[in-house]
Amino acid sequence: MQDGNVGADGELEAKVLEAIKSHGQEGIVQSQLASELGIEVKEIAKLVMKLSRKGLIKKETVTIDGRRVTKLYGVPRKIRLDVKLDTLVEIPCFTCRYYSDCGPGGRWSPRDCIILNEWLERKVQERASRSS
Ligand code: SF4
Repeated sequence: MQDGNVGADGELEAKVLEAIKSHGQEGIVQSQLASELGIEVKEIAKLVMKLSRKGLIKKETVTIDGRRVTKLYGVPRKIRLDVKLDTLVEIPCFTCRYYSDCGPGGRWSPRDCIILNEWLERKVQERASRSS
């Protein structure tokens, strides 16, 4: 590190992760990240390796101006959804005769669909009665 005073490894790792994520879908070249954070390239490579092994970032080799460089991207957090398969199968859209014509702004749309809304209300009531 250039300033030698950034803090514990975990804090530095978090700082690097946040910096990578702040570049969104554009990503950032590893060497640019090092200079942006004032961290030596060798040090940043170690931290990037750790973050990549944890699945928190994605690395990609790209060619920019004839040079092969490593580009880094943040990986969105996985959200766990508890959905039962039998509930999915019950969704009225799967058996709806209007399915192929249904979509936002169309004649049939999930936004104002009576069939779907009634099914959702029924599911909410069922869930509420199970938990009371
Ligand atoms: S939203 Fe309504 S109309 Fe559209 S596919 Fe689902 S059930 Fe059919």
